Amino acid sequence: MSQNQGFMKALKCRECGREYPLAATHVCEFDFGPLEVAYDYDRIKKVLTRDKIEARPHTMWRYRELLPVAGEPTVGRQVGYTPLVKADRLAARLGIRELWVKNDAVNYPTLSFKDRVVSVALSRSVELGFKTVACASTGNLANSVAANAAAAGLNAYVFIPQDLELGKVINSLIYGANVIGIKGHYDEVNRLCAEIAGKYQWAFVNVNMRPYYAEGSKSMGFEIQEQLGWRIPEHTVVCMASGSLLTKIHKSYQEFSKLGIVGETPWKIHGAQAGGCNPITQAQKAGLDFFKPQKPNTIAKSLAIGTPADGFYALKVMKETGGHGEDVTDDEIREGIRLLAETEGIFAETAGGVTVGVAKKLIAQGKIARDSSAVLCITGNGLKTLDAVAGHCGATRDIRPSLREFEALLSHDKPELIST
Ligand SMILES: *Cc1c(COP(=O)(O)O)cnc(C)c1O
Ligand SMILES: [Zn+2]
Repeated sequence: MSQNQGFMKALKCRECGREYPLAATHVCEFDFGPLEVAYDYDRIKKVLTRDKIEARPHTMWRYRELLPVAGEPTVGRQVGYTPLVKADRLAARLGIRELWVKNDAVNYPTLSFKDRVVSVALSRSVELGFKTVACASTGNLANSVAANAAAAGLNAYVFIPQDLELGKVINSLIYGANVIGIKGHYDEVNRLCAEIAGKYQWAFVNVNMRPYYAEGSKSMGFEIQEQLGWRIPEHTVVCMASGSLLTKIHKSYQEFSKLGIVGETPWKIHGAQAGGCNPITQAQKAGLDFFKPQKPNTIAKSLAIGTPADGFYALKVMKETGGHGEDVTDDEIREGIRLLAETEGIFAETAGGVTVGVAKKLIAQGKIARDSSAVLCITGNGLKTLDAVAGHCGATRDIRPSLREFEALLSHDKPELIST
């Protein structure tokens, strides 16, 4: 091996298994299958142990042998190791024995799980010599590319649908990135980006850098297993846009059990979507292996991908693990956001409302048994999607600064709630 490749072996086609060099490329020339990073697991098994991981800093890079960078990571070195919260009050409300919330609403630095995939994609882009980075985004990815590129001194072009939430737009502009609003749906943004990526020598994190980018999502699954005390959860509920995160959490469970880092116990992975954009869950519920593309119409804009790149593989993972797909209406999304906030003090964005709403449905349907244990993946922060809940979460009770007015107000409240 002339060049240092870390623990990576090659890029490998998911369909035919042909191998390619570890460059900025993402599709197989023979069958257009997606390329995936292949690792030298024999070597990894010799060096990666629980003790070694536990001795490292609390970031996603404590699992670095299983992440696709050749040398030391240079971008997003502080990302990850978000809290896994034991959610007893939410468990009681949903009627399940044990519930955990993996809280990437507080991921560093841009408050979504996208910081994981971006730190990997940009670290690898720097290794491959790129100076300009780019992405096609439903919002959170744009925020994370803009912020992490700024911190790394890289040029950034981020492409978003023009009608995104103000919080997502401002959170991209503030870092000085070139933010391009496209008059169209995400799928049109993505198509344009594929054309641009073919013409300019830029690292598009989720186009030509996608094999590396996608691997970053595994870190959420590695952390879940470690934080549960080195075990695989029985049930994991994951919201889906392209479906990539769901497939990579599955891969993280496979890798840790294959390497002997956790015991091999059975697991089920369930996929969550919004009713207004449910190509994957619709196919799952109909028992189909392929999805039908849709035109999205939902408040869960971060999940609004009508032609999900990894939809086929997400369906496969649900089928193989015995998981289910389910979707929720916009009102159920808001209800999910409020339920999580009121029971656990965690304010999630619309995607989190989807995850909570779907978990509630699956438990009520008996697809997640009441005497089991489940992990809900909360992937983004509610402060970025205030538009979705404004006007749906009550209002302040306004008075003049007078004790008399305050006591008049209190007289309307339940006496048992007013302790003296
Ligand atoms: C991007 C995103 C997802 C899903 O990502 P995929 O890997 O494309 O399925 C989930 N939640 C939030 C908040 C996101 O921004
Ligand atoms: Zn192939």
